[in-house]
Amino acid sequence: MKKAAHSQRPPQAWRRDIRSVLISRARLARRVQSLARQIESDFSGRDLVIVALLNGTVMFLADLLRLLSLPLRLDFIGVSSYREGTGPGGLIITKELRLDVRGRDVLLVDDILDTGRTLARVLAKLRALQPRRVKICVLLDKPARRLEDLAADYVGFTIPDEFVVGYGLDYGEKYRNLPFVGLLHPKITRRG
Ligand code: 5GP
Ligand code: MG
Repeated sequence: MKKAAHSQRPPQAWRRDIRSVLISRARLARRVQSLARQIESDFSGRDLVIVALLNGTVMFLADLLRLLSLPLRLDFIGVSSYREGTGPGGLIITKELRLDVRGRDVLLVDDILDTGRTLARVLAKLRALQPRRVKICVLLDKPARRLEDLAADYVGFTIPDEFVVGYGLDYGEKYRNLPFVGLLHPKITRRG
């Protein structure tokens, strides 16, 4: 019999904290592979700078980068919201961009596009540095919660309005190391 596309049940070690697996490791790997092929063909022959947002992109970025057979430069912007749990908050820059992006093609990479507040702010900062063009790549997109008029050029997965963790995404700095994207047990967020 054909196996289901992905198992909903998290691995044993995570069952106390994770309610279900939303995107399995295998699906992540396949999707990142196809995003990489698309990006490769779109930026071939360009002077590419990848600008990734810390810290949520750590796994997605590492997987994506090694699949890009293109010369490129890499830099990071650190942003942190005041929020502690799952709610919104203000934004602080914890690391400024160092590379010169003027006249270059920039691919801005983030973990998840939610309200769009973060990327709208970062995009405005980047555009002031006069790159040739800026494209946005996010692993996850939650269009239901959008407050800014902003869309990503490359989206790994469009997901419903649920708080997710894993594959780089955290809750209180935990769960970034899960190899899949999952949903937390409500009891975890209540403990906040
Ligand atoms: P935005 O500014 O688009 O509302 O939020 C973007 C940031 O909020 C993301 O980079 C991420 O850090 C955080 N965020 C939004 N939704 C989620 C989610 O479902 N899970 C986690 N772990 N972080 C999220
Ligand atoms: Mg983030």
